[in-house]
Amino acid sequence: MDASCTSKVRVIVRVRPFLSHEIPAKNGNPSSCISVLDRDSDSRDEVTVHLQDPETSRKECYQLDAFFGQDDNNLRSIFEREVSPLIPEMFRGRNATVFAYGATGSGKTYTMQGTNLLPGLMPLAMSTILSICQRTGSRAEISYYEVYIERCYDLLEDGAKEIVIQDDKDGQVHLKGLSRVPVNSISEFQEVFSRGIQRRKTADTGLNDVSSRSHGVLVVAVSTPGSGDSGAVVSGKLNLIDLAGSEDNRRSCNEGIGLIESSKINQSLFALSNVIRALNNKEPRVPYRDSKLTRILQDSLGGASHALMVACLNPGEYQESVRTVSLAARSRHISNFVQSTHKLDTPKVKVDMEEKLRAWLESRGKTKTPQKLRSPPTGTLVNAKERGSSVPFRSLFSDEGLTDSCLESTNFASEENREKIGREVLLRKVLSPINANVNQIRHEELASCYKCPVHFEPKTPSTATCANDKFVTISTPLDKFNAMSSSIKSSLMQEYVDILNTASREELLEIKGIGVKIADYIVELRETSPLKSLNDLEKIGLSSKQVYNMFSKAARSIFDNQDDGAQLQ
Ligand code: ADP
Ligand code: MG
Repeated sequence: MDASCTSKVRVIVRVRPFLSHEIPAKNGNPSSCISVLDRDSDSRDEVTVHLQDPETSRKECYQLDAFFGQDDNNLRSIFEREVSPLIPEMFRGRNATVFAYGATGSGKTYTMQGTNLLPGLMPLAMSTILSICQRTGSRAEISYYEVYIERCYDLLEDGAKEIVIQDDKDGQVHLKGLSRVPVNSISEFQEVFSRGIQRRKTADTGLNDVSSRSHGVLVVAVSTPGSGDSGAVVSGKLNLIDLAGSEDNRRSCNEGIGLIESSKINQSLFALSNVIRALNNKEPRVPYRDSKLTRILQDSLGGASHALMVACLNPGEYQESVRTVSLAARSRHISNFVQSTHKLDTPKVKVDMEEKLRAWLESRGKTKTPQKLRSPPTGTLVNAKERGSSVPFRSLFSDEGLTDSCLESTNFASEENREKIGREVLLRKVLSPINANVNQIRHEELASCYKCPVHFEPKTPSTATCANDKFVTISTPLDKFNAMSSSIKSSLMQEYVDILNTASREELLEIKGIGVKIADYIVELRETSPLKSLNDLEKIGLSSKQVYNMFSKAARSIFDNQDDGAQLQ
């Protein structure tokens, strides 16, 4: 293998077995959606991990450093092959980091902590470190802390003491006041560590009863009396990290604080991925400062340090595994993406969201000749497709006025026209809640816009139909208004997601609310994992509120442009 391609941070995959309660749901015969191609068990070179959705024909392949399948009793072999080589380096003054990354329930805590019978990477590492300490006369101390919503808490002290992160004059990061407990035997370690585990924040997310919502960091620091004349003490440390679960908000049904937690978790995981990627690509700037966790780990990821990322997978979760492996592979190397049936090329034809939106509006609100719009004042019939092809993408999102004559109409004479403008007013209402113009529309004009039956589901705007698929009687214009608002919003969001997946970087930059940094992140993210919904933007470190604001800005700009010509009376 070409040395220049070697990852500085190794990224390996561990697939947990199916659990006994998961087997009946798979008709007693579960098959893993994850496998490895061309496996060479003795090699420390690349492996190709293959993911296949058993329910569809979807397949993806990613290259990573090693694969540990569910059939292996693999904690010990992961330790011996991947973690053990890092330990002697600590005694030479080098730092190292091992972290378990993956969705909630994928086996991260099991991998790091293990059970009484099968110790995980943390106790296995501790035991090896202690035996080297005995031989060399070195001292071992442990610290255990968690990073929870970008704050750091000491887990070896009662009372959730918050730890302040400080930079010294040399730019080194210090956790001021963090406890360090000397450990001389594995039983001492078990005692101190298990008390820390109890303090770690857990909450019920609906995916895993005691899901870990914080990043748990165990630090084992060793100091070895120096040899030779200087007699300087040599210090090194190993960080063993059980990362918080990378969450899909829609699946975990998070609300309130859960959502904030979840977006912070996803932000810091994305920041970690960016740091690893920058290190592996020898980029001049490593974005350590983008999250608390990466800032704290700065001295144990870059420089002469070594790191290992264990991507943990649940064999029955295809989508979730794709998310985990794609982020892991993205972190590992810039050119490791092998093949994806969903990979999107930069579009050859410009995306015309305006055309899509308009066609959709027509199909929702009109009962006759939905493909055509009368274009006042000339009265010429304009084919929507022809018109769309001549409207550049920019006209939707730039500050230039729209050239489409349909939008410039101030004429309320025809019913068709009134319907059209009413629908656009509705859109404006949906996207710009505080908009004085809306109040200027006469009630009956608005009411006359909607003659088609509407599925009414005010609380869950992301779906267009009710769960039981029944029509609900909508009696007042406000009911109609609310119902239309919900489905218009979800449709518009989907169009927006499509654009984010397909627009070129330059086109993204023309969208209101997207700057250079976000455009670059979106392009990087979709290379490995196309966006499925706006929530996926949380993976690049945006909060759900920021995502929504970004969408609102883009959508509102549609109407800002229209205001140039359309005066609503
Ligand atoms: P996470 O920390 O990623 O949320 P856990 O480590 O809690 O996930 O694992 C989820 C469940 O799977 C737990 O019940 C755990 O005991 C079980 N599990 C994980 N890995 C294994 C394994 N190798 N063998 C048996 N059970 C496992
Ligand atoms: Mg856990």
